[in-house]
Amino acid sequence: MNALSRRRFLQISAATVVAAGTASRALGTLAAAGAPGGGRGAKGDRQVATFCDICFWKCGAIATVRDGKLWKIEGNPADPLCRGRLCPRGTGGIGAHSDPDRLRSPLIRTHERGEEKWKEVTWDEALEFIAAKMKKIAAAHGPEAMALFSHGIGGTFLKHTLKAYGSANIAAPSFAQCRGPRDVGFRLTFGEDVGSPERTDIENAQCLVLIGSHLGENMHNTQVQEFATAVGRGASLIVVDPRFSVAASKAKYYLPIKPGTDLALLLAWMHVIVAEKLYDADYVAKYGFGFEPFAASLTSFTPEWAYPETGIDPETIRATAREMARYRPATLVHPGRHVNWNGDDAQRSRALALLNALLGSWGRKGGFYSPSVMDMPDYPYPDYPKPKQPKVDNPDHKYPFAHEALTTGIRDATISGQPYPIKGWLVYATNLLHALPNEAETLRAIKQLDLLVVVDVIPSEIAGWADVVLPESTYLERHDELNVELFKEPFVALRQPVIESPHDQKPNWWIARKLAEHLGLAAYYPWKDIEDYLGYRMKEAGLDFAALKKNGIIRGPRQPLYFDEGAPAEFGTPSGKIEFYSAQLEKAGFDPVPKYVPPVAGPPGAFRLLFGRAPMHSFSRTHSNRLLSGMMEENAVWVNAGIARRLGLKSGDRVRLKNQDGVLSNRIAVKATERIRPDCVYMVHGFGHTSRGLRHAFGKGASDAQLITRYKTDPLMGGTAMNVNFVTLEPAEAV
Ligand code: SF4
Repeated sequence: MNALSRRRFLQISAATVVAAGTASRALGTLAAAGAPGGGRGAKGDRQVATFCDICFWKCGAIATVRDGKLWKIEGNPADPLCRGRLCPRGTGGIGAHSDPDRLRSPLIRTHERGEEKWKEVTWDEALEFIAAKMKKIAAAHGPEAMALFSHGIGGTFLKHTLKAYGSANIAAPSFAQCRGPRDVGFRLTFGEDVGSPERTDIENAQCLVLIGSHLGENMHNTQVQEFATAVGRGASLIVVDPRFSVAASKAKYYLPIKPGTDLALLLAWMHVIVAEKLYDADYVAKYGFGFEPFAASLTSFTPEWAYPETGIDPETIRATAREMARYRPATLVHPGRHVNWNGDDAQRSRALALLNALLGSWGRKGGFYSPSVMDMPDYPYPDYPKPKQPKVDNPDHKYPFAHEALTTGIRDATISGQPYPIKGWLVYATNLLHALPNEAETLRAIKQLDLLVVVDVIPSEIAGWADVVLPESTYLERHDELNVELFKEPFVALRQPVIESPHDQKPNWWIARKLAEHLGLAAYYPWKDIEDYLGYRMKEAGLDFAALKKNGIIRGPRQPLYFDEGAPAEFGTPSGKIEFYSAQLEKAGFDPVPKYVPPVAGPPGAFRLLFGRAPMHSFSRTHSNRLLSGMMEENAVWVNAGIARRLGLKSGDRVRLKNQDGVLSNRIAVKATERIRPDCVYMVHGFGHTSRGLRHAFGKGASDAQLITRYKTDPLMGGTAMNVNFVTLEPAEAV
């Protein structure tokens, strides 16, 4: 949490007791209606309030158990994130519990890494094996030689154990492979991140601009609901995407941009808005810093200049710029989420932030609201030992604006042994072979390890390379850390078990705690059990744990969301203002205002490989869930219909994709469509599983990750751009 959000955090703490009372009354009504909370409904059903983990959005859910079996999961009406409605994946969460392919007991490798041959062992044997190896690593190289890769709230306790052991080398792909450039671009401009959930006020936007953001296919629940509300009341929608997405089908303006040229479009839009004096001059004068040199830098970026770069005709660029200005400040240029595309991503995100700044949307209704968070004191653990070495992932601050650890930096250090060796990886709930670019580099790093431990629910590809695999209970079978997030209103949500794990799976908190005990670090877990821990935090916050268990959520009072409601107009930049011109970038040797560099072209006859999401799947983790895979068994490759005709292909034909380095994909069905430009192809991420344990998903569709052998590293923050690979289509029979 940065300094500004900390201030809002403190403001809210004073109001928390009122919040608890208010929420309790509201939820009491709900409980009386027989909805959530561990009681029995009219039919003898048992209902438990918890929150979803099929993706990281953490929607509040009410699970129903009938005749001892998990029956259904619905949205919790008291939850501000889901507003009583789950997305298709959340509703299909039952399939994670009943997945016959899930991991059942701890496993220790018996053959070479990657052969996926194991023996089943007891938890004690597995944890003792891991602890012995970790002690050896610490003795030989120092505890910093262990790293943790983690995704989601479930990693909280493993992080605690690793810090207690003496290592701070902890990273998540969500930074360097996903939202990192966006957060850096916004930090440089406004002094604050966009956050997660994003602080986007979509439901109040009069004009919404989506650049490569396929909301609706990318199913972040709150955003999708707000998007539907905005579209339903006629908000103007501008969609920029090489592919005619579902969102594009609702748009007033659809701009089928040439991939990799988004920064040129952003500069041209800003040129028009500045040249025609359409920007919010009062807002810029009041809050802006360095506007004059910024405005001067835009002079040459005319729509006519942008046309050959982007393929968007100058009049459309002008018309859309004017459309945005017409609705300002309720024009939201959405910051996106997965933004590692071309290598210019932090600067492109900064340009996007600057466009919002010109429109005056930051801190304004229909733009970016000011979030707040519930005051939840941390548990008073003993101090962690101070690591003897700095974090390994970003030596000498090579990427000066990386404010979170870099997964690929840890991978580099593991391969090179520089600045110091990394000899052990703990991997929690992230399939690194699908999440990181260049699988060969990940495997090269794994070869350097003395220990690779994977904690997961399913036998993912990375689990196939592990020395020890630890089976985790699904989110429906376990407690987790409390969910306390910056959002439109403060809240705290509880995940609690709905049903028992079917085999010898254990919750992450239990695994982390037991591992600490085996390492001789039991003092770092002074609480009796997880309810003791959660209850302590609730008590310290002055909140009713029994009410939380019953209702799943406690909401605090709404705080001012916008500057004109009293939200503080403060900016955590060096100037204390919105930085149109960034002296800190200049000082670090980067462009103080964004500059456009054309994307690298692919080999002749090859198509740029683009990838994205489907509403029924999350990453590569849901394809063995029978309920979700029933909605989408495999992915297809979208190919422009004209190109398909030229290649003699039609929808349903099977091809393999061959990338610029000769890597060949699984067989994948063609989707021949006018809905994509001729210079690129598109596929949904995460398919093409090669783990033999994933019996249902094995070999279905093709893996984008396998084809991403090249990446470009963002010079500001070390993010890995992955839309820089090119493929040709090979007839499946011919190879
Ligand atoms: S967006 Fe969907 S999958 Fe994600 S937490 Fe919410 S309901 Fe679950």
